[in-house]
Order: sequence, then C-alpha cells, then structure tokens
Amino acid sequence: MYGYSGKILHIDLAERKSWVEKKEEEWYKTYIGGVSMAARLCWENIDPGCDPLSPGNPICIAGGLFTGTPVPVGGKYGMASKSPLTGFLGDSLSGSWLSVALKRAGWDGIVIHNASKDWVRVQVDDDKVSFHDASHLLGLGTHDTEEAIREELGDDQVRSAVIGPAGENLARIANVSNDGRKAGRTGQGAVWGAKKLKALSIRGTYDVEVADPETLLQLSYDILQASQGPNTQKYRVLGTSSNVLNMNKLGLLPTRNYQQGVFEDAELVSGEYLHEHYKANTMACAQCPIACEQVGHVKEGPYAGAMGHIEYESLYALSSNCGVNDMAAAIQAITNCNELGTDTMSTGVTISWAMECYERGVFTKEDFKCEKYPEGFEANFGNAEAMVTLTEMIAHREGFMGDLLAEGTKRASARIDEERGTETYKWAMHIKGLENPGYDARALKTFALGLAVGTRGGCHNRSAAYDPDIKGQVDRFSVDDTRGELAKSTEEYAAVYDTLPLCKFIRRCFTGKADRAGAWPAIAKLINATTGWDFDYDAVDLIGERAHTIKKAFNVREGWTREHDHLPWRWQHEPLKEGASANSIVTDEELEYLKDLYYEAKGWTKEGLIPKEKLEELGMDDVAEEIGV
Ligand code: SF4
Repeated sequence: MYGYSGKILHIDLAERKSWVEKKEEEWYKTYIGGVSMAARLCWENIDPGCDPLSPGNPICIAGGLFTGTPVPVGGKYGMASKSPLTGFLGDSLSGSWLSVALKRAGWDGIVIHNASKDWVRVQVDDDKVSFHDASHLLGLGTHDTEEAIREELGDDQVRSAVIGPAGENLARIANVSNDGRKAGRTGQGAVWGAKKLKALSIRGTYDVEVADPETLLQLSYDILQASQGPNTQKYRVLGTSSNVLNMNKLGLLPTRNYQQGVFEDAELVSGEYLHEHYKANTMACAQCPIACEQVGHVKEGPYAGAMGHIEYESLYALSSNCGVNDMAAAIQAITNCNELGTDTMSTGVTISWAMECYERGVFTKEDFKCEKYPEGFEANFGNAEAMVTLTEMIAHREGFMGDLLAEGTKRASARIDEERGTETYKWAMHIKGLENPGYDARALKTFALGLAVGTRGGCHNRSAAYDPDIKGQVDRFSVDDTRGELAKSTEEYAAVYDTLPLCKFIRRCFTGKADRAGAWPAIAKLINATTGWDFDYDAVDLIGERAHTIKKAFNVREGWTREHDHLPWRWQHEPLKEGASANSIVTDEELEYLKDLYYEAKGWTKEGLIPKEKLEELGMDDVAEEIGV
C-alpha cells in the first residue's frame, strides 16, 4: 500500500504495553485519515456511554494522507475522543511536525487506552514504545514541557504533543499542544490529564513511499507556486485577524458575550492594529508555505513580554467579546491560554459569561478571590486585568471562579442556576456544550443551521455554512428551502479538507476557484499520485459525506436526539439591537423548519437518525447494524 503503512499502534497506559493492528486498504479508502479516521477509531475503541474522563475513553490519533510528502499544507493530523465538554465526539485537527514524525515512525494512527497510575510520558521511536516518568514535568507550560523533553533526550528534533497545567487539572476546556500548534476545542487536554499522560513524543526514521513521486512533486510545486499569490494574500499578510473589522461592519462581531454585534473599539483589537503595533513574526504549521498565524509581542506596559499566536477566533473571544479594547491584554490572555494549555475560544466565551453574571449581580467581587487578589476583583466587561487573571485561574482551577469556569460555559451555568436559583443559561453561549465561534449567527441563517446540527457543537471549522450567507449567495437574514442542502453541502465540503487533511486556506490554489468543481479534480490527482488509487470527483465528494456520517453515527450511539441540535437561548430570544444586523433573531419555527430541511437533504429520518440503507450505501455496514434505523 502506498501512502499508508497499514498499521495502527495501540498503547495501554495501565498495562504499559503496546500492540499493532493491521488495517485493510478498503478501510483506508473509506476513512482516509485526519478527523474521519480518528472518528472511526473512536467508533471502534470507545466504550459507548463511558464517562469522557474515564479509562474507557481512549485518545485516537490519525495521521494525514499527505503528511511527509511534498504536498503543501498536508502536515496535519486528527485527534479524537469522547468530549468532556459535549459528551459527543470531540475531534480536533492540528498542524505540527508531530504528524510528520508519526508518519515517518511507520504508523497511520495511534490509540491510547486506559489510564496510567502515575504521570507518564510515552515515547515512540519507530516500532519501539517506552514509558517514562513525567512527574518532573508537572506544572510546566506547554512550550517548556516540549523544551524539557528535547533537553532530556538531547535531541532537538523530537516532536511531542503535550498538555499544560490546565490539562493536568482536568479543565474541560484544556487542549493539547505541539510545536505551538493546538489540538483544540473539545477538551482533549482533560482526556489526557485524566489518563495522567503529560506528553507523547515521537521520532521516526522511515521513508514515506508514494505511488508516483514525480507527478506528486510536480502537482505540489504548482500548488506551492499558487499559494504565494493573491489567493492566499489575506492569510499571509494579516492572517484571519482581518475578520475583526469585516465582522464588525456586518454587525456580527461578538461583543460583551454576544449581547451586541458591533464593538465601538473594534479598530483597537483589529488585525490591522495588531500588524502595525504588535506583530513580531508569522508562524506556520508543518508543510505550510502560507504561514497565516500572526505572532503578537508586547514590548512595554503591564503585559510586557507576552508573546501569543493570534488568529481571529482567539482575538474576538479575548477582546470584543469581553468588552476589552486593549490589544496588549488580549495578547497576554492568549499567551496564557497557549502556555497553560486552554482553548482560547472556550476560555474567552466562558469568561464573558462570568462577566455578564457579574454585571447582572449574580456574582460579586468575593466570588473572584484568588491568591493575587485575596479580596476578589471587579469583573465587569472591559476589565482587561480581570480577563487576563481569569485565564490563569481557569487553568489552575484556582478559587471558586477558576474551578467553576474550568468546567466550560454549559456546566458552569447549570451549576450556578441550580445553586443560586438564577437563569444564567440564557446567556451561556454554547451549542452542545462547546462555546460558540466568532460570528453572530442570528443574522447568518444558513450558518445558524450549520452550527445547530454540527456534530462537534458550536464550531465554525466543521461547517462552512457562513460562506453562502456572507458572500450573498442567499439572503442571510431569512430562511428558505435551499438551506438544508446548503448546510449539508458546506459541512461535507469542510469534511473533505479535515479528512485528508489539507488546510482549507489552500482551497483557491488548485485552479483559482474554491468550489468543488475547482478543487475536487485536483485533489483526486493528489490522492492518486500518493496512493495509486483511481479517485475521481465523486470519490472525493464521498470522503466528506462518509467523514460526517461516522461522526454523527458516534453521536447517535451516545444518545443524540433531535433536541441536541439547538442554538443558544440568546440567539433565539434577544434580537441584535444595532449595526448592520440589527433586529436579527432565529425563531423556534425557523430553526425547526431548517432542521427538517437538513435531515431531509442528508437522507435521514425526520428525527435526524440515519437509515440502515444510507449507511450501507456509504460502505458502513457494521455501523448500520448498530445504529441504523
Ligand atoms: S495556512 Fe495557517 S492554519 Fe493553514 S496550514 Fe498554514 S499556518 Fe496552518
């Protein structure tokens, strides 16, 4: 088999042993890699109904088809487990050299089972697996942990995925870090912490064999050339942070916990302002010639020394959404999340929920007591120091508030409502437990549907349904009968990229057009030159549908029902008041109508379940037997 080794490595942390599982070529043709293969590994290895923080919830890692080849932006891998935030599938993508090391070590994926008794670092050197005490690494930040491992091994090329203090403390919004890149969002870091797994280090020395190296090299060269032109300029110069001003203009920039879509000081927290005053450098994922990530550096003032990886989603969450107009504080807060190992989006949205609770009198200063502020502190919107301090408290579960917010918005609000008789769930901005992204979906009706039905929860990466709304392909303020098909089509489009995986920012570099007609034939050529298969447009398209289906199937097995496809209360009951999206809201009737359209487009039942025939048609017969209706 070309492009794959045909082998999955299983590691048991409790028994301290490992074994090899061989997979057939047909399995790879169905699940390919990235989030799809990681989800399939979850399907095969997770105990249905298990507690996400129990030993029965393995960490499933799946490499990329193009990793270790010359294909630009192909250096990503997928990581999945049952999410401690959502209770459904938690799938992440990360673009680091760990992915290349995994491939060169001869593994298509790794499944890490059970839990260790003591803190452990697992080392994979090609075929050899060893277990090492990690107690001396405890408390170290993510960067320092990676550096300490390099020093310990005397090898600056060893690649490690690690957790920071947040993962150690089982913060449900903790992530996994590697080379400064994150496997983020759904609380993977807490799963690692529950297993007492501080780090996974990999070194690989095997060659990656492809079917037609010459053709692959030529195709890769052409994409590389195109990636340096106008098709990626936005990402290379300002990065995604340029969205701050664009979203503000559209009245969609989450502000003060999504109470508003316009931030009066958006200029001060914009990509342009970052570029002019704080940009130190850009960073790239493995195999990436685009380098979209902006490194922000604060040189003076109370946050001097902060150096964080800035992109739009981190920025909106830790500036406008907390009402903070201080770019230096935003960089410090992001730096804290990066180093302590928390997801920037979930952290920012959870803090903004706490700030709203404070402003509405649910919390008092006393609730915010910590070592630095023994009397507590004011936590009103716009309080930059409160925001920065809370990022630290969450990672360490410090004090009442740190411990509460480490649980994420959904659990924090449920606990407070039960204990204090309040209704803070009304401003808990999450879907299925995952905090929302940086677009106010009240005025993006197709995207509202895409988010509501998303298998991952409130995630813009797994659904590209904002595209037809923002580009004016449809009227973003109203609903019509095209939206079910659009939500299906855009989520499966995204799933193709997340499965190969290829970064979506390359999507215009194949033919200049990002649509299926522009990209799928080119991607088919890449797949065929790598594997020797004969994929065509339809086969590439099927990758997305299969990827999405296995994730949905996992959720169905975990008890998903139609009610789980919801939106935050605020988006359904409080219209935006000002700006270009004023008066927008998604009514119950609209949402239920949109869900009907979507389930129908997917070929599912009215209740959103998957018919047996549909699963069999996708080559998932064993899944059909378990959850097909
Ligand atoms: S464009 Fe950005 S996100 Fe995409 S691979 Fe490159 S650095 Fe990573």
